[in-house]
Amino acid sequence: MGKVSIGLRGWRFDEDAVFDADGRIRPLGNMDADTRERIVRLSAMMGDPCDACYLRYGDEDIERCNPAQAIYGEPLGEVLLCDDHEADFVYWFQEVGGHEFAGEREIQTRFHEWFANGGRSPEGFELEHVEEDPDGVPEAPDPDDELPGLEEEIEEMDDDELDALDVDLSDLDLD
Ligand SMILES: [Zn+2]
Repeated sequence: MGKVSIGLRGWRFDEDAVFDADGRIRPLGNMDADTRERIVRLSAMMGDPCDACYLRYGDEDIERCNPAQAIYGEPLGEVLLCDDHEADFVYWFQEVGGHEFAGEREIQTRFHEWFANGGRSPEGFELEHVEEDPDGVPEAPDPDDELPGLEEEIEEMDDDELDALDVDLSDLDLD
């Protein structure tokens, strides 16, 4: 059974648990709760800006923020990162004690605090999988392409559960 990332690097899913043989999303109601929460949160956050860019530029300079390319953390405690800032998170996680918060939602606020206080990965700390493409314009993944059939599945979900996951259907950008 293969592990896959969907849309954003970081979170990994059992391909067979998420997609059927035709590549469409399986019924959310049949997934285990953790997988379902992650899929729903992931779909809601595709297209959102990188957290670190946002901490730097905020709403007033939102067009300078790169779209997130990677997701770490836990549902409702996610850290979204662009290619430039993923190294900062991984460095913090591996070398500055971030791993102590693995599996906890608090990881999000802890990383934000570190970054907002000037925390950065040192020169030369690089992630192998990030392709250097200085001229490329980063693109946000599209949940409709990445998770075919998702819209119908989310419409079937219980409103209370969607509220608990802080997901607003109008935010989902599905057509
Ligand atoms: Zn960024």
